Amino acid sequence: MAIDIKSMELPRLARYLKALGEPSFRARQLYDWMHKKMVSDFSEMRNIPNSCKEKLKGAGPIFTVELEEERISAIDQTRKFLFSLADGSIIESVLMGYKHGWTVCISSQVGCRMGCRFCASTLDGLLRNLSTAEMLDQVYAIQKITGERISNIVVMGAGEPLDNYDALLSFIRIISKEEGRNISQRNITVSTCGIVPAIRRLAEEGLQITLALSLHAPNDEIRKGLMPIANKYSLKEVLGACRYYFEKTGRRVSYEYSLVSGVNDDLSEADRLYHLLQGMGGHINLIPVNPIKERSYKESTPEAVLSFKSFLKKRGMNVTVRRELGRDIEGACGQLRRHYLKENS
Ligand code: SAH
Repeated sequence: MAIDIKSMELPRLARYLKALGEPSFRARQLYDWMHKKMVSDFSEMRNIPNSCKEKLKGAGPIFTVELEEERISAIDQTRKFLFSLADGSIIESVLMGYKHGWTVCISSQVGCRMGCRFCASTLDGLLRNLSTAEMLDQVYAIQKITGERISNIVVMGAGEPLDNYDALLSFIRIISKEEGRNISQRNITVSTCGIVPAIRRLAEEGLQITLALSLHAPNDEIRKGLMPIANKYSLKEVLGACRYYFEKTGRRVSYEYSLVSGVNDDLSEADRLYHLLQGMGGHINLIPVNPIKERSYKESTPEAVLSFKSFLKKRGMNVTVRRELGRDIEGACGQLRRHYLKENS
């Protein structure tokens, strides 16, 4: 089996090279080529001797994604990328421009097994986890294709990142390391549907990333109707884990709330949400649900969104309505990949 050196954090890479009989400084040289210079061709690595390159080549290639398709939104310059992986799997990533810089949204799995009712990524279930290198190279490829400096990462594409925990952790450590891309952990957001033990474990890792919880409902009943994971963990347990995350890391948690017309967007639900999150020190992100054709959910009207927001704001909650980007290029989770797979099957 091919050895995946790009997924290795520095200490592990050093152990691997030592076992190959290489001197101790070799790991840093190689790490610099892969993660700072984003080079994937051994022949470009000028300071690595040929004897070492031969050994590495024999073990396996440096993993890269291949661009299959790119779409640029005519409305807001959002760019969506479809990449293929070594086994032919297709994943999607998005580049979004904000005032504070360029943000890349990456996928963490091929498909997803969480089954959220409104989400396109989960319709065909989970194919497999992504490796650390497959997550990293979504960012590297977009930086190389566009020439833009990526300053923020959101792990909010297809997949449940906390269902691929170890690869995610290595991804975060590598992408934020000074010797690599050096993207500040404060500029990295990981979004989860709420896997309680994994949130608690993440709180212990000594990271400074932002946790986003996909809440989407103010009570267990509505949440169960939207998200199967709610049958496993109650809101009390999930919010307890978020509180713990905040206490341990000092990082404010973001609560994502997709507004679905007639399901969770009534002011009585805003009131329940207010009581639920009051005193949690978090930030609420409202987004009208992006309808997918396989389901009948409809987005809330602009008026309903506005009154939901004002209700919370008046009561002192920290709340924003997320700008919808890339609507014309099938921006919602998993939509473009699904479209592509249908057309090419
Ligand atoms: N599995 C993780 C991350 C991927 S989904 C999670 O659940 O958080 C990223 C966010 O997009 C989640 O908040 C998810 O609930 C939301 N989402 C998925 N499909 C959507 C849709 N059609 N409209 C609006 N938000 C959607």
